[in-house]
Amino acid sequence: MKIVLNHKCNLKKEEFLSYFRKLNEMKTNHEMVLCPSFIYLSMCDSSKLLLGSQDVGSYDCGAHTGDIAAAQLKSIGVDYAIVGHSERRLNHNEDDGLICEKINLLLKDEIVPILCIGETKEERAQGQIHRKIERQLQALNGLEQRKRDKIIIAYEPVWAIGTGEIPEVFEIDEVLAYIREKYPKNILLYGGSANEKNICNLKTSKYIEGYLLGGLSLSPEKLQIFLELC
Ligand code: PEP
Repeated sequence: MKIVLNHKCNLKKEEFLSYFRKLNEMKTNHEMVLCPSFIYLSMCDSSKLLLGSQDVGSYDCGAHTGDIAAAQLKSIGVDYAIVGHSERRLNHNEDDGLICEKINLLLKDEIVPILCIGETKEERAQGQIHRKIERQLQALNGLEQRKRDKIIIAYEPVWAIGTGEIPEVFEIDEVLAYIREKYPKNILLYGGSANEKNICNLKTSKYIEGYLLGGLSLSPEKLQIFLELC
């Protein structure tokens, strides 16, 4: 399984270093992609972990104050990048067009994009899940198939992120089956309140090939249990 650890905007330097030591001591056969705050990326020297960023700037290197370019990330060993996380879409008004530009920039520098998609509670209540997913997947239109196949797709219902609520497994599988039909080669992840208590249930999914973990990723102890169960 591919396990993506999204720290979001958490941990001060000493806390991060102590966490990183514990993470390196963990025993697991799962492939872990650590996505810490940007400021810690270059401190992550590990043969056990893959490195990911939580976002990427929408420009190449140059006169773009405050931005971080894909080429810079690649130069410090970043091989994955989350794009289109619902918190970016909501807090920074990121739309599908911008996300598509970021995906192109990442692929140019051979960084694997982890595209997050998912419906809000309202969209779910209105029976619009598939329509929303389809719209967000348009960010992949126009990409050469060879490149498109590399993108990891993370289904993250917005209402499940950080809330402790998760969909029924058959509901997750309905969405992932729909994505799988259109994108047969892409790795499919589930994200949204996955934890050590619900992993045995999530594990019954036919389509989940890995997880994007937010809250759980900050606790090495709970993460270890999760990894053993998944
Ligand atoms: C996330 O933010 O991508 C996420 C999955 O968070 P959590 O696990 O805390 O719901």
